[in-house]
Amino acid sequence: MNRFYSAVVRTVGWLLQLLHPRACVLCRRPLPTGSAAMLCGDCVPRVRQEYRNTLPVVIPDADGADAPLLYTGEAAAALRRYKFNRHTALCKWFSAQAAACLAGRLCQWQPDCLTYVPIGAVRWWSRGFNQSAAAARQIGSAMQLPVYATLGKRPLRVRVYGP
Ligand SMILES: [Zn+2]
Repeated sequence: MNRFYSAVVRTVGWLLQLLHPRACVLCRRPLPTGSAAMLCGDCVPRVRQEYRNTLPVVIPDADGADAPLLYTGEAAAALRRYKFNRHTALCKWFSAQAAACLAGRLCQWQPDCLTYVPIGAVRWWSRGFNQSAAAARQIGSAMQLPVYATLGKRPLRVRVYGP
C-alpha cells in the first residue's frame, strides 16, 4: 500500500509540474521537469557569491543573531514575492537557508524552541498568511524543534488630537 501511495504521489507531482512548471527561486526561469532543485545552474553560484551573508549580525540585547542571506537584488525580489505576493512555494527555499544558518549555531545557542515575528490582523488579512510563522514551522519540522507563538504585537498607539 505504501509503495502504491508513493507512486501515486510521485505521478501526481510529475503531472502538476507539467501543468505548472517550477521556476528558479531567483531568476524565475523554468526548471527541468522532474528536478528537485529550487535554483537553476546559473543561480547556485550567485547565491554563494552575491547573496550569502558572511557578516556578523548584531541585535542589541539579544544573545545571538544571524542571517543566512543578504536581501538585495534578486534575493530581495524573491523575498517580496514570498511575503507580499503569496508565492508560498518560496517558503521551502527561504526556510532551508535559515535552517542551514541555524544548524551552524545549534551547539552555541542550543534552542529549546523556535518562535516567529507576529503580524497584526490587518496584515494577516491582506497577505493571507504570516510568512514568518510558515518559515518557523518549516524549520521546526526539519530540525525537530517545537514552534511556539511567544511574541506579541505591541498595542496600537493612538494619537489624540484636539483642544
Ligand atoms: Zn536562476
